[in-house]
Amino acid sequence: MRFSDIPGHEDIKDRLRLMVSEGRVPHALLFEGPSGTAKFMLARAFAQYLHCTDRHDDDSCGKCPSCLQHQSFRHIDTVYSFPVIKKDNKPTISDDYRQEFVEFMSEGPFMDFNRWPVKLNNPNKRPAIYVEEGNELIRRMVYTAHASKFKIVLMWLPERMQEDAANKMLKLIEEPTSDTLFLMASDNSRALLPTIYSRVQRIKVKRYANHEVERYLISENGLAPETACDIAAVAEGDINRALEIAEIAHNDNSDTAATNSLAMFIKLMRLAYQRDIASLKVWSNDVASLKREGILRFLDYCARMLRENFILNLGVSGLNHMTTPEHNFSANFARFVNERNVLKLFDEFNLASRDVAANGNPKIILFDLAISVILLLKQ
Ligand SMILES: [Zn+2]
Repeated sequence: MRFSDIPGHEDIKDRLRLMVSEGRVPHALLFEGPSGTAKFMLARAFAQYLHCTDRHDDDSCGKCPSCLQHQSFRHIDTVYSFPVIKKDNKPTISDDYRQEFVEFMSEGPFMDFNRWPVKLNNPNKRPAIYVEEGNELIRRMVYTAHASKFKIVLMWLPERMQEDAANKMLKLIEEPTSDTLFLMASDNSRALLPTIYSRVQRIKVKRYANHEVERYLISENGLAPETACDIAAVAEGDINRALEIAEIAHNDNSDTAATNSLAMFIKLMRLAYQRDIASLKVWSNDVASLKREGILRFLDYCARMLRENFILNLGVSGLNHMTTPEHNFSANFARFVNERNVLKLFDEFNLASRDVAANGNPKIILFDLAISVILLLKQ
């Protein structure tokens, strides 16, 4: 990862380069900010920049042996530390999932935490950094750097450290060896142990501006400018969110009605309004064919549409974030989502998500959901 691979955040790249040129690189650095920004990419690019043996003023070279090792996630003096799910309730360290993590970084460098448990084939669990990972870091930090000036720990989501792991980490940060650097990226730094938070140098990473998201969607996803502009307006500076919406929009254009989120949402609401039980049965089976991850994403999508419709119904202008086709439907539909039923509707969709995540039978869960929607729409 080079600085030039990362869209935007130019002020932060300048600050990192200045730290190096002035010889004041802190031994623990935290990139903090909302999800869907390039925090972990910045940490990775900074590590590569520090290790590069043919660095130019503004970026790592991308070609020296050190850069090549970084780019293939195999740099000898770099350790990746990240939340995991315990394997068979046994002590589990990050390295046990190294291959999955490397794939995850390659598939989506903006690192959407919600997708990580799915990647680990365990969407119901919340990954954490356990005490054995703290011990592992202590063990590895005893050795001096092999091939470079610094050993670097790249830690993704330090706020997911369990307390005993955080205490080990605290010890490492309080008594660092001279050649160790900790580069951490946090989606929610308020959840970090205050004793750690106060001992690290912090860099705030801001949300992307709409035009930056738009440019990214055009250059990296090949979206048409109007579509990119539409999506950027909805994504609120979160690239992961933008990519997710782009994926839904893409499916919606691919003519397969079964994967068209907006169409499926509209169908549910129309059929529920008409109390067409037989067609709702077919609808449940169609949605169930999406498989678990697809169903969960669709249910999330429905929750967002309900929220947007409720806001629209309240008549608060400027707070809505919808694409044009979504808005066209909602202009008429919004009046059905009101203060009498909105919380109950959310509850029903959350319950369905929970049951699907827990491996319940999706056809039954979705049909039950459809029946609840019939009753709630009349309120
Ligand atoms: Zn290099």
